[in-house]
Amino acid sequence: MRKTPLDEWIARKIRGGQDSPSPLSRNEIDRYQFEKIRETVDYAPRNSPFYRRLLEGRSGSELKGLNDLVSFPFTTGDDIRESALRFLCVSQDEIARVVTLNTSGTTGVSKRLFFTADDLELTVDFFHHGMSTLISPGQKVLILLPGDKKDSVGDLLKRGLARMDVEGIVHGPVRDVDNTISDIMKFSADCLVGIPTQVLWIARTAGGVIPAGRIKSVLLSTDYVPQAVVRELESRWHCPVFAHFGMTETGLGCAVECEVRSGYHIREADFYVEIVDPETGQTCREGQAGEIVFTTLTRRGMPLIRYRTGDISHFMTEPCPCGSVLGRLGTVAGRLDGRVPLGKDHTVTIIDLDESLFPIEGLINYSAEVVRGDGKTRLVLFLYAGTSTDLKIAKAAREAASSIPGVRQAIAEGLLEVPLPYFSTENQFTTGVGKRRIGQGMIMGDG
Ligand SMILES: [Zn+2]
Repeated sequence: MRKTPLDEWIARKIRGGQDSPSPLSRNEIDRYQFEKIRETVDYAPRNSPFYRRLLEGRSGSELKGLNDLVSFPFTTGDDIRESALRFLCVSQDEIARVVTLNTSGTTGVSKRLFFTADDLELTVDFFHHGMSTLISPGQKVLILLPGDKKDSVGDLLKRGLARMDVEGIVHGPVRDVDNTISDIMKFSADCLVGIPTQVLWIARTAGGVIPAGRIKSVLLSTDYVPQAVVRELESRWHCPVFAHFGMTETGLGCAVECEVRSGYHIREADFYVEIVDPETGQTCREGQAGEIVFTTLTRRGMPLIRYRTGDISHFMTEPCPCGSVLGRLGTVAGRLDGRVPLGKDHTVTIIDLDESLFPIEGLINYSAEVVRGDGKTRLVLFLYAGTSTDLKIAKAAREAASSIPGVRQAIAEGLLEVPLPYFSTENQFTTGVGKRRIGQGMIMGDG
C-alpha cells in the first residue's frame, strides 16, 4: 500500500521547499499549523475591513497552542454573502478569479469568492500532487467538470496534470452521454474525473461499449459520493474509484482519498480543520461527527478563519494503513440543512435516498421532492432510466425508498405516502455542478 503522495508534498512545503529523507511527523505539522494560524489571525484584520471589525483587539500572540483557536469567532456563508468584498486582504487588481455561487442562503444573495494568482497556484499544486495517487505519467484524464474559462476547476486540474506529464482533456459536465462515451473511447481516456451521478450515467448507458479494464481509475468530486455508486463503477470497470472532498471556499481542493480509499487525507499545509458541534459550536470529541470548520493557512486574497461549511463529517481516529500522518476526514454524511422533515421526528436525506435507490438495476438518476398539503405529506420520486419506463424499476424504487428507516416509520404512523414514482424521459437531474438536494413543495388544500 503506497503512502499518500500528500505527505511528501506537504513535508517539502512546510520545510520551505527542501527535500529531506525524514518522513513528515505529526508534531511538525502541528507546529507549522500553529505558526500559520498566528500569522493568519494577524494578517486578516490588518488587511481586511471585515476581519478588522470581527477580530477587533485580538491578535495571534493570544494563541499559546492550536486548541486556543476555539476562542476565536466563526465565519459563515452568510458573512460572505453580506460582505464578500470586505473580506479582501489585497487590492481588487490582484484578484485573478472571482467565483460566484448561486446557492440559496438565508439572505437569498449569491456568494462571491476571490482568489489571487498565488491562491490559484496552491490549488494547481494540490491537483498535481493529489492526482498522482491515481494516475501515472503518460496517461490521459477526461475531465467531466466545467473548464471553458481560464482558472475554472477543469482548467486548474488540466494545468496540475500537465506538471506530471498527464494529459487532461476538458470535456465539461456530461450533457449528451453518447457523445461522452464516444470521447472516452476516442481519446483512450485512462481516468475520469467527474460528478458521481454523471459517471454512473456513463457506466449504466455504456454497457459493454466501455469494456472492463479500459478505465484505470475514477475520481468523484463536487457532490457526496454514494457508496452505491462507487460499488457499481468498481464492479463494471474493475478499477479503483477515489473520492475527493472540497468546495469553492476551500479553493476547490481540500482532501482526497489515498490507495486505502477509506477517508480523505487533508492538505494540512493549507488548511486547519476542526469538527464542531453544530448546535453549541464546541469542539467535538475525537471521532464524533459534527460540522466541518476550516481555517485557511496560506491564502492571501480572501483568507477564511473558522469557516463553517455546513457539511457533516468526523475525524477518523485510527492511523491510516497507508502510513500517512495527515488528518483524515471520514465520509461526508450530508449537510446540516439536508435533513428533510417527514412529520413528527422522522426525516430523510438525499444520501439515504442515494444509497437505497442507486443499487436498482436500470435506474440512472432520480430527483425527489417532499410535498405537503391536503393534510398529507408525500415523498415524490422522478426517475430516469434511459429509454425505459419499466414498471419494475418504479416499484423497486418505491419499495427501496419506503424501507429507509425514517420513511418507513413515517408511513407506519400514517404521516407519509410514497406514490408510485414518475418517469422522466430525459436526465435533467444532473446538469449543474454542486450538491443535489431533496426539493420541498406545498400544494394548496381546499381546507
Ligand atoms: Zn491513507
